[in-house]
Amino acid sequence: MGANVTDLHGWITQQVETIERSQHEGRVALDEHERYDHTAFSSDPAGLRRCEADRRVLARHRLDLDQAAFTAACEGHGLDSWGLPNVENLNDCPELLDLAHAHGITPEILAGLAQPAKHHRTSDSSKENEA
Ligand SMILES: [Zn+2]
Repeated sequence: MGANVTDLHGWITQQVETIERSQHEGRVALDEHERYDHTAFSSDPAGLRRCEADRRVLARHRLDLDQAAFTAACEGHGLDSWGLPNVENLNDCPELLDLAHAHGITPEILAGLAQPAKHHRTSDSSKENEA
């Protein structure tokens, strides 16, 4: 995944979308005798619930668009008593880092992510320009 550079929030969103897409397509798993693999079926509702939970976290821990000085701040972590963001960079948000861990992020992927920028929020995350 070379030119498609996104930030941490966008990367997790892509993972969630990939899982949701494969489950909504109703991809049917078969065992070696070409019977339905029921373990694959029964895992689907749990997988979709997991995706939904991820999306709830993503909806809270996103770029704080009200921030003028700290343009990469995490909205979900709010402000401290000085009115400064508790997490100044969304890529450092502990919640998002934990979610990314669950999706198998590696130190290499993490190091290659783009910095959060407000224009990334607007529309499609599929074609972003370089970092
Ligand atoms: Zn956060």
